Amino acid sequence: MAGRKTLVTGAGGFIGGHLVKYLHDHGDDNIVAADIKPFHEWYQVWDWADNRICDLREKSSCAESAEGCDTVYNLAADMGGMGFIENNKALCMITVLINTHMLMASREAGVKRYFYASSACVYNGEKQQDTDNPGLKEEDAYPALAEDGYGWEKLFSERMCRHFREDFGIATRVARFHNVYGPHGTWDGGREKAPAAICRKVINAKLSGDHNIEIWGDGHQTRSFMYIDDCTYGVKRILESDILDPMNLGSAEMVSINQLVDIVEDIGGIKLNRSYNLNAPKGVRGRSSDNTMILRELNWEPSITLREGLEKTYAWIYDQIAQKLPSKV
Ligand code: NAD
Repeated sequence: MAGRKTLVTGAGGFIGGHLVKYLHDHGDDNIVAADIKPFHEWYQVWDWADNRICDLREKSSCAESAEGCDTVYNLAADMGGMGFIENNKALCMITVLINTHMLMASREAGVKRYFYASSACVYNGEKQQDTDNPGLKEEDAYPALAEDGYGWEKLFSERMCRHFREDFGIATRVARFHNVYGPHGTWDGGREKAPAAICRKVINAKLSGDHNIEIWGDGHQTRSFMYIDDCTYGVKRILESDILDPMNLGSAEMVSINQLVDIVEDIGGIKLNRSYNLNAPKGVRGRSSDNTMILRELNWEPSITLREGLEKTYAWIYDQIAQKLPSKV
């Protein structure tokens, strides 16, 4: 029926692929799934969805994708972990075209609700200089001093969502994701984030017998990591909520990168010799999510433990690596 479709952009990516499945499992049976990548590069392709390949930097592609939709989840972005965003600032900023054209197309298509995936990278860098970060509160995005490139694009796009809501009446909702991880995501190739990269390095060390691991930075930098199932649940709750301001969607379980390696080594049943690459991209010194607002608004916060989520992620990456090994005769 016209007007009842849901569009998920970036559906060939990590979070998008999981979100399409989650929405379908929770009653959404008319989903358009769009991504620029060829289907064989999508992490998950769901046959029951209306899967489309298109470049959403183009307004015409946004218009075609949004046609007949009343809900849009905009997750498409040219992004990756620290190694990618520190070296590809222009590419990150060009993603502004996706959200801009998608908002314009959504308005023209009569979309009612619009979700935008923002990031903890919008937060002021000066509030993240200490490993002992107390948790970033939503107001810590201002005065603005976002992560160069990627973070500024996210902050600008957040504001664009706000103005489309205020001026044109689209119910835009914005969540600031803090490091999401899990199976069916990037784990090699340069765009991967710390949890997947550490799992890959530990697995490779185990399989190759070379028991050395290189860690980016001095290992004391801190982060929090949210398992994908908490993310998909939170996204739907926020989309359906009345929360107008951008809100953290992240775990408050802060660990150092060394502690992250400890957990993955423990899962792998191995101890490695660590070397620290102080010249590698490191990002901010300390970052975690203050969940006061989400607890107040939704009476819920991401709570899947890092250990539990990493066990599942490790097992999936192990399978990906094992599949590539020459089979034993
Ligand atoms: P991802 O790279 O796996 O998925 C993004 C998808 O967008 C990719 O499949 C990519 O092909 C697609 N895309 C890029 N340019 C496109 C274009 N021009 N047209 C159509 N599709 C295009 O990343 P993800 O981890 O799934 O992230 C999803 C969203 O969440 C992104 O907006 C990202 O910035 C945001 N986010 C993610 C994290 C995280 O930890 N994963 C943290 C903060 C914010």
